[in-house]
Amino acid sequence: MRFDTRAIHAGQDPDPSTGAVTVPIYQTSTYVQEGLGQHKGYEYARTGNPTRAALESCMASLESGSHGVCFASGMAAITTLAMLLSAGDHTIVSDNTYGGTFRVFDKVMRRLGLEFSYVDTSDPELVRAAMRPSTKMIFVETPTNPVMRLTDIAAMSEIARERGAIVAVDNTFMSPFFQRPIEQGADVVVHSTTKYLNGHSDGVGGAIVVNDADLADRLYFLQNAAGAILSPMDSFLVLRGIKTLGLRMRQHDSNGRKVASFLSEHPKVQSVYYPGLASHPQHVLALRQMSGFGGMIAFETGSLENARAVLEAVQLCALAESLGGVETLICHPASMTHASVPPADRERLGISDGMVRISVGIEDVDDIVEDIDRALSAIA
Ligand SMILES: *Cc1c(COP(=O)(O)O)cnc(C)c1O
Repeated sequence: MRFDTRAIHAGQDPDPSTGAVTVPIYQTSTYVQEGLGQHKGYEYARTGNPTRAALESCMASLESGSHGVCFASGMAAITTLAMLLSAGDHTIVSDNTYGGTFRVFDKVMRRLGLEFSYVDTSDPELVRAAMRPSTKMIFVETPTNPVMRLTDIAAMSEIARERGAIVAVDNTFMSPFFQRPIEQGADVVVHSTTKYLNGHSDGVGGAIVVNDADLADRLYFLQNAAGAILSPMDSFLVLRGIKTLGLRMRQHDSNGRKVASFLSEHPKVQSVYYPGLASHPQHVLALRQMSGFGGMIAFETGSLENARAVLEAVQLCALAESLGGVETLICHPASMTHASVPPADRERLGISDGMVRISVGIEDVDDIVEDIDRALSAIA
């Protein structure tokens, strides 16, 4: 079956006990046993829950993997993934990775003996040079936030395979609708389902998908051992969001292209970061590894004052962190999402004080463009 059909049906057969078409919210902590060791596959709800199981199998299907594992947040998924490693193991991480990922690796996992190198993974040669005998994982985000830098997933897989390491891809920005890392050789896909997968800005969640039964068993063990599980209610919300993932992503992409091209022609905008523009330095890689470009755009206004003027003049676009919801959100990376990144690192990564980031929603694109146009006229 094709993607849009699987989004609605994978893991979501009608409920066997009632025929309910929609997977029910199994709001229970435990399950009655008919006799010692006799149960229907569920014993305790940290270990397993049918609503969560439905989402896990839907996620596996959409990411072209064999197993999905769902968590209370994207960070819970990434933390659990890191628990696959042991003290002394080394991981290469995209230098422009999500701030929360850097925080848990640098401030928590390093204290426990894991080692990390932050590398510009957009250059495979830099990754190859950073490999050590102890390297067990290459953890990449593509595209990155907010400068939309891409990493070649197939190239990472080749480097990792030579050395017996695994490749994990944070696929939050593209969603499986536009990018399926496992099909390009990655071993692990992680998601903050908080963003496009849930899509309605009304829940926090995370997921891991793998294509290997042993790796899946180790992750289910850790999911149960550490216990950072997704609740039945939140599992239901993500399942509901995913039913329209294809519809939404097509609209995010269509609106994203129009907003990016509007911005790239606007005299008050100095540069636009969007992989769908031919001017993006990795546009060719984007065409090869993604089937669309989505709704994440950053642009340069030239100064903090200019950025402030725009951000305070928008009316439809909401000034807020997060992304991937149906509503357009706009933010200032330097003081919001990337405030914890030291100024020198921000500069090296290209995150200037004049940069504005938009998560283009699925409203009528003419309204979005009009709002941004009006806001840009607030620049002196
Ligand atoms: C939001 C986000 C995360 C963290 O997910 P939470 O659900 O907020 O814990 C990880 N990676 C990326 C790329 C994100 O955008």
